[in-house]
Amino acid sequence: MATPGALPDLPTPDTCVQCGLCLPYCPTFRLTGNESYSPRGRLAAMSAVIHGDAPVDAEYDDALSSCLGCRACEAVCPGLVPYGAAYEVAIADLADRRPTQARKVRRWVLGRGIASTTRVMLATRIAAVAQRLHIAKILPGLARRGLTGLRRLEPGRAPWKGRVARPVGEPKGSVALLSGCVMDAWFGPVHDATVGVLVRAGYEVVAPESQTCCGALAAHDGHRAEAQALAARNVDAFADFDIVVSNSAGCTAHLKEYDHWTQTHGSLNPAVVDATEFIAQLIADGSLPRFDSARRPGPDVAMQDPCHLRHAQRITSAPRTLVAAAGCAPVEIDNRGLCCGAAGVYSVLQPSMSEDLGLQKADQVHASGARVVASANPGCEMQLRTYVDRGIRIVHPVELYWERLSAD
Ligand code: SF4
Ligand code: SF4
Repeated sequence: MATPGALPDLPTPDTCVQCGLCLPYCPTFRLTGNESYSPRGRLAAMSAVIHGDAPVDAEYDDALSSCLGCRACEAVCPGLVPYGAAYEVAIADLADRRPTQARKVRRWVLGRGIASTTRVMLATRIAAVAQRLHIAKILPGLARRGLTGLRRLEPGRAPWKGRVARPVGEPKGSVALLSGCVMDAWFGPVHDATVGVLVRAGYEVVAPESQTCCGALAAHDGHRAEAQALAARNVDAFADFDIVVSNSAGCTAHLKEYDHWTQTHGSLNPAVVDATEFIAQLIADGSLPRFDSARRPGPDVAMQDPCHLRHAQRITSAPRTLVAAAGCAPVEIDNRGLCCGAAGVYSVLQPSMSEDLGLQKADQVHASGARVVASANPGCEMQLRTYVDRGIRIVHPVELYWERLSAD
């Protein structure tokens, strides 16, 4: 039995054979050429610390803190080294052993602050006022980039948390929607679209009032007790449903790996699916229609693969299925799926590398010529909006599909 607050025994970084095949896929190694910023270097550093051969010092902190947690290395590793799981353990251990003032603040913000709907709504109202005053240009870098990345906020709109939507007739099943820490307040139209499509497919959709933030941001920053407490609340909130659907790739990936965080509380029982994969299945089995692009062609859509969709969940075809079924033409921009630099709170902690990666992703979008970009993750969407040319639309693939379905 694991002790409360501890992570379960997970595969160790020792399984890495140091072959280096993952290096070309690691965004931080590509930017720096520095072995300490590579998967191989980080895994070696984790091993050295575990075996007591190296201290937990500033150098180690830098090596781990500069990692995006994108898991591109894990997806291409021939030895199936579980980088993401090893990193989760290592970053939690690091946060415990180097409790800097900044980490204490982040522990509260990511572990408690964003789990409060009241606090998120208050922050949303402040940001909405700032948007309407058009003051982004005069704000310092971090606040300017954050405000630029947001959609136009509508603080008066009703959140989905606590609501139910029913189909006409007997439901095919009961779906729990993860309302998320900021999805309801900042990305309400993505929830509208997800609920609209699922109800049209015959499902009852419920956003349980007792749910909370999934805990991914706290977990990825090493705040294990807080991540475990959030996971425990959601295990209870979702227990009575057939399936849990999330339209934020980072949250879905975290929910799918909840067993790492809920071992003292029991597993999350319903299956978890990303909204893109669930709706793609419904299109494939004929429950939802495909729209003919020849009859009414939609725009070219540049496809941005969120790392926690592509690398962590290995989902690439589902968002393309949605975009094509909406009558649009998916356009490939990056066959390696390099991280856009959003990565949770990475843009706050590592602004320089985050900006380099954001500009690189924007160049890929601009080179495609597409005026619409589809991204299935809120952080990536904000990063794209910060760096791509104004006038290019950033949209969730479910929204594109819902727009066509609801207009039909
Ligand atoms: S993580 Fe995998 S691909 Fe990368 S160096 Fe280690 S064994 Fe090789
Ligand atoms: S998770 Fe991403 S940034 Fe971190 S080592 Fe792997 S590829 Fe590099």
